[in-house]
Amino acid sequence: MILDGLGNPWYRGDVGIKDEMIKKIGDIKEGAKRAIDAEGMIVCPGFIDMHSHSDFALLLNPKAESKILQGVTTEVIGNCGASAAPIKDKTIDLLKDYTNPMLGFLKDCLDWDWRGFGEYLAKLKKGIAVNVAPLAGQGTIRIAVMGFDKRDPKEKELAEMKELLKAAMEEGAFGLSTGLIYPPGCFSQTEELIELAGVIKDYEGIYFSHIRGESNTLIPALKEAITIGEKAGVSVEISHHKAAGKANWGKVKETLRIIEEARERGLDVTSDQYPYTATSTGLSALLPDWVHEGGVKRLVGRLRDPQTRRRIRKDMEGDRLIYWNPLKATEWSNIMISAVGTERNRELEGKSIEEIAKLWDKDSFDVLFDLLIEEESNVRMVFFRMSEDDVITVMRHPTTMIGSDGAAISREGPLSKGKPHPRSYGTFPRILGKYVREEKVLTLEDAVRKMTFLPAQKLKLRDRGVLKQEYKADIVVFDPEKVKDRATYTYPHQQPEGILYVLVNGEIAVEEGKYVGKTAGKVLTPLSVGALTPT
Ligand SMILES: [Zn+2]
Repeated sequence: MILDGLGNPWYRGDVGIKDEMIKKIGDIKEGAKRAIDAEGMIVCPGFIDMHSHSDFALLLNPKAESKILQGVTTEVIGNCGASAAPIKDKTIDLLKDYTNPMLGFLKDCLDWDWRGFGEYLAKLKKGIAVNVAPLAGQGTIRIAVMGFDKRDPKEKELAEMKELLKAAMEEGAFGLSTGLIYPPGCFSQTEELIELAGVIKDYEGIYFSHIRGESNTLIPALKEAITIGEKAGVSVEISHHKAAGKANWGKVKETLRIIEEARERGLDVTSDQYPYTATSTGLSALLPDWVHEGGVKRLVGRLRDPQTRRRIRKDMEGDRLIYWNPLKATEWSNIMISAVGTERNRELEGKSIEEIAKLWDKDSFDVLFDLLIEEESNVRMVFFRMSEDDVITVMRHPTTMIGSDGAAISREGPLSKGKPHPRSYGTFPRILGKYVREEKVLTLEDAVRKMTFLPAQKLKLRDRGVLKQEYKADIVVFDPEKVKDRATYTYPHQQPEGILYVLVNGEIAVEEGKYVGKTAGKVLTPLSVGALTPT
């Protein structure tokens, strides 16, 4: 049963592949070197993970098991402002500290021998299991030029940031990402971001944004992203669309309306989503922005000072923060520590802050501050803060695509740490199992469209995302009766069921549900590179 990815009903047929291309579709009579019997199965384009954080993971483990086993054949990396490049020597230590909790505590495992965006991509080109579409991270660029300074850039600094971004675009970035709840993104004003987005316009780049808050500040944050797109004249992708914190549940109806209105005005704005009600990020994201000024060492210093601790606490109990939505103390039970950097707090993984407070006989704020001090901020959390109704409302919208927001991880080695969010293993099968087969939130055709053609269209991948002759053979074969996610918050390292074959660029990467070790993925090149002569 062939699903073309465009949303059409399935039809019966054979798919003929030669080298890395789909060469023929229909009733194929001639023999083949290798045939896969897919009777009763769905055959569709490989899934495109619109929001991934595998930037470091792929360097350490190019096999990307947790992604390839769920049918992902292309990942968009460099999201939320955090890309692996460009790097400047003078600020490399700040970048290591910054990316460490965001990208999986991997700083000591990497050799850090790249600097420019192209140098980083060259490392990926040595072999990866999935294709990647890389973004340049605004946080990474700002750290390179200004470190963690909480101020506007000087004219010279802005020019330098634009130069770095231009170089990244020349070297193959698909666009610019921001993470405006994280430092240093949160130190950047809208004007600075419009200036940067102006650079990617010349390359038909896309502005991807983890907007300036998804709880109390959700609506103005979304409007800011749209303003940036409209003023700079670039297409916008809203990352991991959601309304976080009980007080904000239901606001997704308004965010979807705002997106529709912007589209009516002519702005190409779309969004992506992961199908879970919990978020996951570094624990330090709970702290007010000023605590992050100067970098991680300064942050830990502030947490050690009793007077500053009182000030942080007072700020957190107010309601002006962009990440934390303080429903007063009740939220502490919803925050689970998912991974810590050192061995000594390993037993805390899987426990909520409320539980740890009882265990340590401390107030929850003190648990938060002391844990960040002990682990030098290397702590990740899973935060249960969305409503299922909102997840479904966003999912049903025709402009929503799917993105895991997770890195490619594995059961063993440096990428196996802690209890990572199950989305790294389960996102795509969960859509097909829970939301298509079991709950009928989406039709199968529409779900596959959101995972294939829709993101390919956004990324301008003109030869992927559709099952069609002369397209690249990125293909998934799955059992529509059995497909489902198995990863949970308690046991995340579980591969899904029902994803039988995955082909990347015509090579079989997954066979009968087992990864066979191929690294046929490519670093994809944006259409604009080499095709445009930017001014
Ligand atoms: Zn994000």
